[in-house]
Amino acid sequence: MPLIEYMGLCLGHPEHGYYITRDPLGAAGDFITAPEISQMFGEVIGAWVAQVWHDIGAPAPFVLAELGPGRGTLMRDVLRAAGRLPGFAAAAGIWLVETSPALQQRQAETLTNTAVHWADDASALPPGPMILLANEFLDALPIRQFQRTDPVWRERQVALTGGKLGFVWGPPRAQPEVAARFPEVADGTIVELAAPAEAVAARLGARIAAQGGAALFIDYGAWDGTGDTLQAVAAHRHVDPLTTPGAADLTAHVRFRALAEAARPARAHGCVAQGVFLERLGITERARRLARGQSPELAANIAGAHRRLTHPAEMGNLFQVLALTREDAPVPPGFAP
Ligand code: SAH
Repeated sequence: MPLIEYMGLCLGHPEHGYYITRDPLGAAGDFITAPEISQMFGEVIGAWVAQVWHDIGAPAPFVLAELGPGRGTLMRDVLRAAGRLPGFAAAAGIWLVETSPALQQRQAETLTNTAVHWADDASALPPGPMILLANEFLDALPIRQFQRTDPVWRERQVALTGGKLGFVWGPPRAQPEVAARFPEVADGTIVELAAPAEAVAARLGARIAAQGGAALFIDYGAWDGTGDTLQAVAAHRHVDPLTTPGAADLTAHVRFRALAEAARPARAHGCVAQGVFLERLGITERARRLARGQSPELAANIAGAHRRLTHPAEMGNLFQVLALTREDAPVPPGFAP
C-alpha cells in the first residue's frame, strides 16, 4: 500500500489507530509538546489570540477553535490569559476538532467549567469569524513520498515481504503534479506531498478570506525542502516506523510554503521560528514574572522550560509558526519585528 495509506491507518484506524487508542502525551507517554512543557506557551498564545480578536473588531460571538488539542492544555492556558480582556470570554464559542475519543475525554477533564463543543473535522465548525489554533497537528496528517528517477517518479509503498513489513518503491510514473512542485531536484531525491494538510489550509484559507478571522499553525518543519522526514517515536525514542504499526507516533515535517499556497486567497504570514515568535510575544518577561518569589528549584524549572521552548538548539528553530489572515488585516503579533 502507498505510504499515505499506511500512515493514515497507523494513526487513525477506527479501532487500532495510534491516536484513537491512547493519550500519547507526557512523561509516561511517547512525546511531549510545547503546551505540556510550560503554561507560558499557552499564555503568550492567549495574548496573541486576544490581540487578533481586538484587531478584527472584537466580533461577538466568534468561534475559537483548535485542531488536535491533545490534552486541552493549550486551550485552557489560552482562555485563562485571553479571558482577562473584557468581553472575550462571553464572545468565544469554543470548538475542539478531535477524532480521538481518548483525547476528547482528557480535554473534557482539563476544560471543566468551560462550555466546549467537539467536531470531527474542521468542515463541521459553525460559520462566522474564527480564530483557530493548531499545535503539532499538521505533522500528524499522512503524506506521500516520491523518489525521482529522471524523468519519472516512484511512489513509496509499504509491502509485506518474507513476513515483514518493508519499504519499496512503486512502478515509475510521470507524476506531473510532483514534477511541477519539485522541478529541479537531483536524481535520487525523495520529496513529500501532504495533500491532507494542504486541504486543511485550503479550507481554512477560503473560510478566513470570506468570513474573517485568523489561523495559527505551529509545527516542526521548514518553509520548503526535500528529503525523507517520516519519523516514528515511542516512549520518547525514535523507532522503526514499520515494526509497531499503530503503537508509535508517525509524523512528517510540515512544508509551510505548500500550506501558504493552498490557503490563498487568505494572506500567509511567516513562517517564523518558534523561538523568535515567542520572544516577540513576550515569553521572557512572562518567565521572569512566573519565577519571581519562587524557590530556586522552581525558578530553575521555569528558566529550563523557557530555554527548551525558545533556544535555537532546542525547539526554537525546529518549530516554525505560520498565520493566515484576510488580505486586508493587520500583520498579526509576532510576525513583524
Ligand atoms: N496540540 C496538542 C496535541 C498534539 S498531538 C499539543 O500540542 O499537545 C496531535 C493531536 O491531533 C491529537 O490530539 C490527535 O488526536 C489529533 N489528531 C490527529 N489526527 C487527527 C485528525 N485527522 N483529525 C482530528 N484530530 C486529529
